[in-house]
This record gives sequence, C-alpha cells and structure tokens, in this order.
Amino acid sequence: MNFAFTEEQQKIRNTIIDFARQELNPGIIERDRAGVFPRDLWVKCAEMRLMALPFPEAHGGDGFDFVTTVAVFHALGYACKDSGLILSLATQVICGLTIQLSGNQEQAACLLPDLASGTLIYAQGITEPDSGSDTFAMRTTATKKDGGYILNGTKTMISNGPVTDRALIYAVTNPTKKTLARISCFLVPKGNPGFSAGNPMEKMGLRTMTNGELVCTDCYVPGPSLVGREGQGVILFSEVVEWERVLICAGLLGGLERVLEDCIRYAKERKAFGQSIGTFQAISHKIATMRMNVELGRLALYSAAILKNKRKRAALESSVAKFFISESLKQACLDAVQIRGGYGYMSEFEVERDLRDSIAATIYSGTSEMQANTIARLAGL
Ligand SMILES: Cc1cc2nc3c(=O)[nH]c(=O)nc-3n(C[C@H](O)[C@H](O)[C@H](O)COP(=O)(O)OP(=O)(O)OC[C@H]3O[C@@H](n4cnc5c(N)ncnc54)[C@H](O)[C@@H]3O)c2cc1C
Repeated sequence: MNFAFTEEQQKIRNTIIDFARQELNPGIIERDRAGVFPRDLWVKCAEMRLMALPFPEAHGGDGFDFVTTVAVFHALGYACKDSGLILSLATQVICGLTIQLSGNQEQAACLLPDLASGTLIYAQGITEPDSGSDTFAMRTTATKKDGGYILNGTKTMISNGPVTDRALIYAVTNPTKKTLARISCFLVPKGNPGFSAGNPMEKMGLRTMTNGELVCTDCYVPGPSLVGREGQGVILFSEVVEWERVLICAGLLGGLERVLEDCIRYAKERKAFGQSIGTFQAISHKIATMRMNVELGRLALYSAAILKNKRKRAALESSVAKFFISESLKQACLDAVQIRGGYGYMSEFEVERDLRDSIAATIYSGTSEMQANTIARLAGL
C-alpha cells in the first residue's frame, strides 16, 4: 500500500490549508460562543467545492476518488479550527454517498447536483430518543399508502437537522421481518407536510454545527422518495457507515496533527524552573504519545480509505480507525490542556474548545464501545 500523497493531492491539500486558515478560522472563538451555524462559511466551502469532491462530474461533482476526498478532509481537519463546520460538511458528503450507493441512478442525477453545490443542506436521521447504539431498534414507521409511504416517528441529535433542506430518514417498513429486511431509507424534503425540524440542541462542543430533532407526523412521501429498495435500509446503512467513519476520521486525524504541532511549539517556548517545559519527561512523553498516535492513525485511516476506494468492505478497518483516532484525539486534547497549564483552561487559547469538540468524536458515528464490539465480533467473539 502506498500512503504517499500524489503531487495533485498535495497541491489540493495546500490550497485547502491556506483557504481554511484565511477564511474559516477568523472569529471561531466568537462563533463557538454564539453557537450559530455559519451559513456564510458554508457558502465559501461550497465555492471551494468541498461538498462536490467524490461525486461524478455528470452529477455536479468534481469526480475525485475517495482517497483524495479523505486527503482533503484530512487537510481541512489540520488547518480548520472549526470542527463543527467540518462535521457539517462531512454529513453533507455522507448523505451524497448514501444516495450514490443506493444504486438509484435517477435519484443520483436529480439530487446530487444541489447537494454537491451546497445549495441544499442534507442531514441523515437514524438515532431516535430510545435507540442510538441499538440502531435497528428504531421505532419510526413507514406505512405503505396510495403509492407512497406515511412516516411517523422522531429522530434526535441529527447533525444539520435544524438547518436541513433534505433529510434521509430511516424507518421500519416491515415490522414482521427480521432486522435485515425491516428498515428502509427515505428522502424527506423541508416543507413536506407532516415533517418538521426542531430547534438546535445546546451542546458542549461542535457548537457551530446544529443538531436537533426531525419529526414525522403522518408525513406522506411519494414512492420515489425511497432511497434504494424497500427493506434495503440496514444493508445500505452498514455500507454507508464504513465510508462515514473513514471520512470523519480524516478530519479528526488532521485535528490531532494540529494539536500535536501546537503542543510542540508551546513546550519549546514555555519556561519553568529555568528551562523549556518540553525538557520535562512528564511533558515530552505526552507529546511523544501524540506523535506516535498520528503515525498509527495515518496508517489506520489510509488503509481503510484505500479499501473503500476499491469498493471493498472495511468494517474492521473503519472501526479500528474510528476507535483509535477519536480516542487518540480526545486524549491529546486533554493532554494539550494540561501542557498549557492554566492557559489551557482559558478559552482565548483555544485548546479547551478542541477538547470539548473531541469528546463528541468518541460518541457520534458509533460510540467507542460499539467500535470495540465490532472489532471483537470480527475477531470471532
Ligand atoms: C455531535 C453528535 C452528532 C450526531 N449526529 C447524528 C446524526 O447526524 N444522525 C444520527 O442519526 N445520529 C447522530 N448522533 C447520535 C449518535 O449517533 C448517538 O448519540 C450514538 O450512536 C449513541 O447513541 P445514544 O446517544 O443513544 O447512546 P446509547 O446507545 O444509549 O449508549 C449509552 C452508553 O451505553 C453504551 N452502550 C450501548 N450499547 C452498548 C453495547 N452493546 N456494548 C457496550 N456499550 C454499549 C454506549 O457506548 C454509551 O456509552 C449524533 C450525536 C452527537 C453527539
């Protein structure tokens, strides 16, 4: 496996790094405090074609392969301090991949152009108040009627939910069937009678991304709203989640690299007892662990990305990457606060925001415990 970036990938990465530093970082402390979705920055990211990367040119995309898409999100995570915005963008791309993977060419041709251009904002609704990790215990129903379906149920904590124009909603179409054939995926547009989005939920971190409820109350959608085939929801979700974990991890690994560089700089500059704090083993070993995790995270990320690029299954590899990179980032952020001492706790030095943002990474797209379950199951346990 070759993990080196091509010349083209490196060039795009450099462009994204400059863009993020100049356009996305200014004002992040205030935006985080206000907890508001930055629609102007969304538009700038759309102009940079960040949501178009992996989609075919015929469907309004830029036709990059998945490894390049991952390399771009990796650069974005490294340079952009707004982790909420990055997850918001990743959610959009993941919804596009869902539409593409469902195999319905007509839907892809109709929906992907507005998604890739960022004109319409997408969200994916899986989690419900009583089913998170136990995903397929979901209760939202889709009952066949008049050539379409009537949806009833509530999704919660949905990224981009409060600002969404189109949502992918997973619902039970056949409650009598076993898990594999019970669930289907539907596209529900904003303004559809019976469909509503709740207010943004206040949260600890990722405060520039909105999360909230999506509610379906006797919400009729026509037959063509089905994404993929009826009863294909579990298979579709199981495939999508592998792409999702890899794409999300790209941003997280970039964040880990940024935290590491910042810690190295600070440990060299900050003096105590007449010497740089980086000369104290208690500090340098924390940084050594971060450095080691960046190296290992890169291997985990790109081996999973290369598998997905070849359209191969990567249940194990994507879970390993998600578990390892998200936990490494959370620990690195905790250590970064400690390395900065009291300043680490003060908002103006921005490490505490990284810590708050990083905690969510061990929860969304499958908690660390659920990744460990997958890894254990695939080990035959
Ligand atoms: C920032 C953020 C963004 C999100 N975005 C979305 C989104 O866009 N769309 C969406 O559908 N959802 C989204 N979610 C929801 C997220 O997917 C769920 O929070 C997550 O799957 C966990 O579900 P839960 O919160 O119900 O926790 P639970 O499933 O109730 O878990 C509670 C605890 O029990 C543990 N646990 C549960 N089952 C097991 C088990 N079998 N073995 C070991 N431990 C177990 C969990 O690991 C966790 O520690 C988001 C969440 C966050 C925080």
